[in-house]
Amino acid sequence: MIDPKDTARNKLRDAVRRGRIKKPTHCSICRRLTEARLLHGHHEDYDKPLEVKWICVHCHNILDRDKLVATGHRMAGNLLNNKPVSV
Ligand SMILES: [Zn+2]
Repeated sequence: MIDPKDTARNKLRDAVRRGRIKKPTHCSICRRLTEARLLHGHHEDYDKPLEVKWICVHCHNILDRDKLVATGHRMAGNLLNNKPVSV
């Protein structure tokens, strides 16, 4: 089965490449000026592949981590929160 996430990402990438969608220059969450390659399209609804929030890598990590915890993937969320332990 094709992952709807991958389909949405491919459609978005294609639209950006063809110039149908223009990446902004700033993260829509923290408003920092961000290099285009570090600005990710974050899908809230994979059925709308071209509707994304453009956010920086840093904000994307936070958003995805929160989503993991919110959807019950507490272990994954906790693992991401854990800092490396030195022994
Ligand atoms: Zn940001």
